[in-house]
This record gives sequence, C-alpha cells and structure tokens, in this order.
Amino acid sequence: MNDNTILVINCGSSSLKFALFNAAELDCVASGLAEKLGTTGAVLTIKIGNSKSTTSLAHADHSIAIKSVIESLTSMQLLIKDPLGIGHRVVHGGEAFSNSVLIDNRVIAEIEKCSALAPLHNPANLLGIKLMAELYPSAPQVAVFDTAFHQSLPQASYLYPIPYHLYTEHGIRRYGFHGTSHQYVAELAANKLNKPLDKCNLITAHLGNGCSVTAIKQGLSVDTSMGLTPLEGLMMGTRSGDIDPGLFEFLCTTGMNSESINQMLNKESGLKGLSGETNDMRTLFKLADSGNKRAALAIDVFCFKLAKYISAMAASLPAIDALVFTGGIGENADRIRATALGKLSIFGFKLSSELNKSNGLRSEGRITESGSTLAYVIPTNEELVIARDTLKSAKYRELPNQRG
Ligand code: ADP
Repeated sequence: MNDNTILVINCGSSSLKFALFNAAELDCVASGLAEKLGTTGAVLTIKIGNSKSTTSLAHADHSIAIKSVIESLTSMQLLIKDPLGIGHRVVHGGEAFSNSVLIDNRVIAEIEKCSALAPLHNPANLLGIKLMAELYPSAPQVAVFDTAFHQSLPQASYLYPIPYHLYTEHGIRRYGFHGTSHQYVAELAANKLNKPLDKCNLITAHLGNGCSVTAIKQGLSVDTSMGLTPLEGLMMGTRSGDIDPGLFEFLCTTGMNSESINQMLNKESGLKGLSGETNDMRTLFKLADSGNKRAALAIDVFCFKLAKYISAMAASLPAIDALVFTGGIGENADRIRATALGKLSIFGFKLSSELNKSNGLRSEGRITESGSTLAYVIPTNEELVIARDTLKSAKYRELPNQRG
C-alpha cells in the first residue's frame, strides 16, 4: 500500500540529505541530514517544523543511515506505508537526460556511464537509488538531474575550443549544474513578472558554497558558468572557478601532481584560499569588519567575479527582464548583492538599499528602485522541485495507457 508521501533523497559521498513531503500539498513535513558517514563523528539531524533532533550514527554507512532515517520517520508516524514516490538528486546526466525520469535498468546504466564525468557524485547517487530500491521495491523512483535544465545550451556555449574529437569521443563539453535551482527561481521570477516563463529573459545567480550564474532566454538555459565539472566559472566557497589552464603545467613544475592540484582547486581555493581563513561568508564579513585585510580581499574578488560573469551572461540575451539572486549567499548577503549590482549599472540596475536589506534574510522580493532593471531575491528549494517531478512521474506510471 502507498502512503501519501514523497521522499526526496540526496546521497553524497559521505552524507545523506532527505526531505519528506506530503504529496497532496507538497508541504515538507520533515527533512534532515546524515553527515560524516563512515567516521566516529557521523550524526543524523532531523528537522520537523521548528524542532531539531540530533543522534550519533558513529561509523554508520549509507545503508545504516537510510534505515535510521526510515525508522525515525516511521516511529513518528510520518511515514507509515511505502512512499508514493522516491526522488533522487543525480548530479550528472550527461547528454542523455534533459528531464527527470522514472528509474529503470536503462536509466541506471546511463547514470553509471556518466560516472566518469562525476566520479565523486554519481556513484553515491546510484548507491542511494540501490538502497531505496531494496527497502521499497515497488515504489517508483525518479532521477532529477542537476544538468538537465542546461541541455538547451547552444553549441557555442557548450563547446570548449579544443580539438572537436575530445567532445565526440569523450563527451568533453560544458554541461552546467544547479539546474533544478536555476529552473525553480526562474519559474518564480516569471510569476512575479506576470509573464509565462517562455517569454522571460533572466539571469539567475545561485550563490551557495557552490556558485553559478545562468542566462535564461525565453525560459531556456542558453549559457551557464559551470562547465564539464562544477569547478568552472565563479569564485566559490572552496573552489577557484575559472583560472588560466596554463596554471596546471606551471604548478607541475613546482612539484604538485594532478591529484594535489585538483584538491587545491576544489577544496583549498575560492573564499577560503584567498582569505586563508574560511569559506563561510558570514565569518568573512565579521573578519573583514574587524580589519582582516585578506577577508576583505576575498569578498572583493568574489563580488568582482560575480559582476563579471553576470555581464557575460548578458551576451546571450536580447534583454534582461530580471536578475535573480538565490542560494545561502544570494538570499542572505545584502552586501554582496549591493557590491555586485553597483558594478552593473551599465545594464540599468539601480539598487534600493532599503529593499535590499529588507528582502534579504530569507524573505523574497524586489531589491531595485522603480525604473531600474529588475533584480529579485528568491529563495531556492531544490527538494521541492525534486518532489514535484517525482510526483509527476509517479502519477504518470499509474497511467499505463499514456506511456510512450
Ligand atoms: P550549499 O551550497 O552548501 O547548499 P548554502 O546555499 O547554504 O550552501 O550557502 C552557504 C553560504 O551561504 C555560506 O557561505 C554561508 O556563510 C552563506 N550564508 C548563509 N547565511 C548567511 C547570512 N545571513 N549572511 C551572509 N552569508 C550567509
């Protein structure tokens, strides 16, 4: 028997995020995170409304973590029977998926093929799919891809200017990520503009620990800052974003190898690398305000790169109906929005300091003066998009006559 719930699973290499939705209203009834899996410090945090509980899961692996989540949800009577559907965030769908799909053996084989492009993420995502299939063999499982929304990129945006056979033989091209978030905030921006999404030209900036900007032309992603991997583009929490590819060879002459360079560019760069302190923007603000010059420098470079990339996105658009800020930094850091917009007056942006302050801190709305090109803060909700797509696909499965 089915429950009227949708379970969303985001299985990372050492973490497991989940969210349980009521399928009727698509309200999130519980969410949580099991982190540091495989270590003594592994913990499971479950949030229901405003209350949070944390339990130790020392040495637990993904399988134990998933079972603990299900046991907790069951004991609280939030999950009684099988979920109506289980939605999985899958990082890389390559060129095979431009939409969310019901998972079957063919889909699993395709996700496996894409593992070469996302070796840290796709195997973990597949593990989540396998474990949930063992626990709920008859519940439909749906894969929602970070790359899917960007499958509309034109060749001029997705090809690297390197030998073409590297694209045809190895799939080396730009794919883009954070697709569910860009798509979600674009839909909400279209509502605010009172226009259908396919009539909207937008730039969306997802600024969390990972950061990317996307140009959306008449509802479709036409350029985005992340590429073959989520390392390309903007400066991020610990990732460098764009660097001169010649850096690689130069660093090899200093004794570094591909593994140490990869580690440095992904984990020790960005805000953390430049500040020498942390990737956390809140802490950087405090440090900069108390006179720490490197923290201030890291913030400056972050804002400059952001403004520069937003400008680059304009090259793909006939007009800018609105710029949208989202993600932990985009939603909360009014200083970052103000500094970036201050560098973009050429596009007609005039910040309203008052709206920028009042529409930060997880509330949403316009942050520009009347007469300005519009900019909004819109909180993202990737779990909701996954739940929505899962519900759609699960219902579709119930209608065998309509299946192609
Ligand atoms: P993730 O990409 O891991 O999901 P988030 O979207 O939660 O990350 O974003 C994390 C970033 O958001 C961190 O740099 C954090 O400091 C920043 N952030 C969160 N709240 C605030 C705030 N009130 N002011 C400034 N930055 C914030």
